[in-house]
Amino acid sequence: MNNFGIKKGGKMKHILWNPWHGCHKCSPGCLNCYVYYLDKLRDKDASIINKVKTNFNLPLKKDRQGNYKIPSESELATCFTSDFFLEEADEWRKDIWKIIKQRKDVTFLICTKRIHRFNDCIPDDWEDGYDNVIIAVTCENQEKANERLPILLDIKAKRKYIFASPILEDIDFSEFLSTGKIDLVSVGGESYNNARVCNFEWVKNIKKTCDKYNVKFDFHQTGSNFVINGKHYKIKHHDEYSQAKKGMKYL
Ligand code: SF4
Repeated sequence: MNNFGIKKGGKMKHILWNPWHGCHKCSPGCLNCYVYYLDKLRDKDASIINKVKTNFNLPLKKDRQGNYKIPSESELATCFTSDFFLEEADEWRKDIWKIIKQRKDVTFLICTKRIHRFNDCIPDDWEDGYDNVIIAVTCENQEKANERLPILLDIKAKRKYIFASPILEDIDFSEFLSTGKIDLVSVGGESYNNARVCNFEWVKNIKKTCDKYNVKFDFHQTGSNFVINGKHYKIKHHDEYSQAKKGMKYL
């Protein structure tokens, strides 16, 4: 998995935590959703939302010595085979917030397309946000950026990220980054067979905007259908992350 633009260092580990699985398509970026793609390969229906019982309390699991299996200073990318703010998860989420609160030594990255549900889904003691939670909003095009990012700016959270992923067009984030409320923008292309184009020019433009407003930037994956200098490249999925890192050198 990628490191979501957060510099690795010391003991920081990046781990996926999917307490529930499955999702509903709700946006142009969902068209070739990798959850649907991978579930179909396994003859599963990704539109059915299931609690993942074996993984639900992952951050609290301990080894035989009584130590947490998820070490301190890890980062848990939460709900990356679903959406944290799905209606179906409303009851389950109450327990998840308790787990997040219990593991203050771990950072939880929550990425969503359903930021409009945020204020209905936070715990009573959220106040200005838990210190160990990053809220990231996915915007694949300008329309979705204009729709979702004003909400992201408005909510209370200690750290706020934008994921321009899967990027589908050139997106101007100026009005959102100029507020000083966004900590990082991470860009990625779409994966697998039917992937739509990710054009390196779009990535460069976002990097320039980030530089202008002093916002951290990452290019986390090229996608499988990458265009650079007008030339198309088919990138194998497992190379998407390393190729993006190479691309960062040209930004
Ligand atoms: S919101 Fe994310 S997980 Fe859900 S269908 Fe869309 S792309 Fe897939």
